[in-house]
Amino acid sequence: MKTIQDYIRTIPDFPHKGIMFRDVTTLFGDPRGFRIAINQLLHPYAGQPIDKVVGLEARGFILGGAIAHQLSVGFVPIRKKGKLPGTTIEQSYTLEYGEAIVEVHDDALQPGEKILLVDDLLATGGTAEAGIKLIERMGAEVVGCAFIIDLPDLGGRAKLEKLGMDVHALCQFE
Ligand code: 5GP
Repeated sequence: MKTIQDYIRTIPDFPHKGIMFRDVTTLFGDPRGFRIAINQLLHPYAGQPIDKVVGLEARGFILGGAIAHQLSVGFVPIRKKGKLPGTTIEQSYTLEYGEAIVEVHDDALQPGEKILLVDDLLATGGTAEAGIKLIERMGAEVVGCAFIIDLPDLGGRAKLEKLGMDVHALCQFE
């Protein structure tokens, strides 16, 4: 029986030399792989009250949409700056070289709502932390952060757990 890792393709030297890119499009493209990934991602949260799923651009949209549908809740995208048409709040975060900004519509979440945050991969945790800050600035509460892949050597899980987050990942790569 194939494991989640078996569905993920590794592409060396993308986007830069020396990077081993974990490509989840092969997982998304497989009917069994996609189904078991969605089921396993939402499994810990199935009995919990969740008001909305928030997905991080771009692969978090594919996962988050399917999970939100399965939980019968709404889906909210956090996007890179300049893509959302309405009024937004934004959050900057540090990348390996420089800075990036993500944003969310300022009316997308309500105070007190319980949120499941979803992305494909957790590396340094900078992207997820920016998402958590946006959600919390709107008065909503992150009840879980779910990822297909955790790269533990890059420290993202430790960073999010230090913020008090429940981190759920389906597999790890060195
Ligand atoms: P972090 O902010 O935790 O350092 O990086 C995580 C973000 O970068 C996620 O949004 C993720 O989609 C993207 N990312 C970084 N490296 C990879 C990779 O090897 N594979 C995939 N699929 N995404 C990656």
